[in-house]
Amino acid sequence: MIKAVKGMNDLYGKDAYRWGRMEEDIKMIVQTANYTEFRTPIVEEIALFKRGVGETTDVVQKEMYDFLDKKGRHIAMRPEGTASVVRAFIEHGISVNEPSPFKLFYIGPFFRYEKPQKGRYRQFHQLGIEIFGDDTPQMDAEMIFTACRVLDHFKIDYEVHINSIGCNECRPVYKEKLIEYFSSKKDKLCEDCCKRIKTNPLRLLDCKSCNMKMEYQKVPVMIDHLCGVCSDHFEKLKKSLRIFHVDPVIDPYIVRGLDYYTRTAFEIVADTGGSQNAVAGGGRYDNLVSDIGGPDTPATGFAMGLERLFDMVPEDFYQTPMVFAGYVLCEEAVDDLVHFAKHMSHHPVTFFADYRPKKIKKALQKADKAQISFVFIFGENEAKNKTVLMKNMTTGEQKTYGQHEVMLIVRELMDASAEFYSKK
Ligand code: AMP
Repeated sequence: MIKAVKGMNDLYGKDAYRWGRMEEDIKMIVQTANYTEFRTPIVEEIALFKRGVGETTDVVQKEMYDFLDKKGRHIAMRPEGTASVVRAFIEHGISVNEPSPFKLFYIGPFFRYEKPQKGRYRQFHQLGIEIFGDDTPQMDAEMIFTACRVLDHFKIDYEVHINSIGCNECRPVYKEKLIEYFSSKKDKLCEDCCKRIKTNPLRLLDCKSCNMKMEYQKVPVMIDHLCGVCSDHFEKLKKSLRIFHVDPVIDPYIVRGLDYYTRTAFEIVADTGGSQNAVAGGGRYDNLVSDIGGPDTPATGFAMGLERLFDMVPEDFYQTPMVFAGYVLCEEAVDDLVHFAKHMSHHPVTFFADYRPKKIKKALQKADKAQISFVFIFGENEAKNKTVLMKNMTTGEQKTYGQHEVMLIVRELMDASAEFYSKK
């Protein structure tokens, strides 16, 4: 039997319905905050991610889904959204052709070759927002607040953890301090971290496997080594977040896995019911656009994991819609049901037709299993008299209508729907 590729999931039935509604709500929230949709391809040249995400990151070193295409070009499935959006921002001259700041969002699948577990998949989905052309701490705060608005909408409890990881002025000095500190602790570090000491020492702070927690009190942290400009930015960020009613936890160990962040870095943690409790993360990346060959453009943004969000959306947040169904009991009635289905398609009711003749008992059993609210039966008598029998599956009440009385029927169904939704 051929099975789905490891770490990649199917979605159908109620879950697909709830996922679709969740995406619609997210779009509505970010669009009203003035972010416009941005779509980029699933694949890019791998060079983009090497430069944009960083050669020393796990995402590039271990987790890429990459391949050579028929002409030998080295292609990768996108592991995150920012690099692609930055590529497109430069390619289309958006800094000159569009108003600034340029605010965008995307929703779609991303691919990382990670060890699959609950909350961690090889194909997963993210909502991302990015803002180009604004270097203010207030915009960082608004960006973080937008993530909070999404979580608040779904009534999720969470904590916002923020940090500053400095800039090209203050970070190199701090990195030297970290290298010095960790060099004397090599015996306590995992193999990866021993290699990272020189290439990416900040990552040692959030390494799960060597768990340096007991050492944390003594580890030099970036917020104690910020330059004046970065320190001022961080203070104003905290102030603006409080104005937005976001009460941040200062967490000096947030460094983010990707290389491109400057100053603001943040993560939102929530109880996702598993060990993967980071639901969103991001920050400022003022150098990325110029690093990839574009004009000097400050930028900030976040990505939110939709699988993790989905797992936290309360079960009763969305009601499945009322569905109505028609069944035939004999061949002679089939065309009547076809006509009826055509008429019902003009109205805002969810109608399902089963054209395979069956006994009444079987039809009702099927309707029951499919949680149909009202069924319409087309049997021999109904075919002769051009009528239809309507049965309310909740109360058992039955009525006969003329097949042409579609307006009356629809009205009754809409009244029943209104009552159903008002009770929920
Ligand atoms: P990142 O792009 O690594 O900053 O991740 C942003 C968010 O995407 C995380 O907080 C997770 O919610 C989600 N995420 C990242 N990787 C995965 C994955 N492999 N499976 C599911 N969700 C993920």
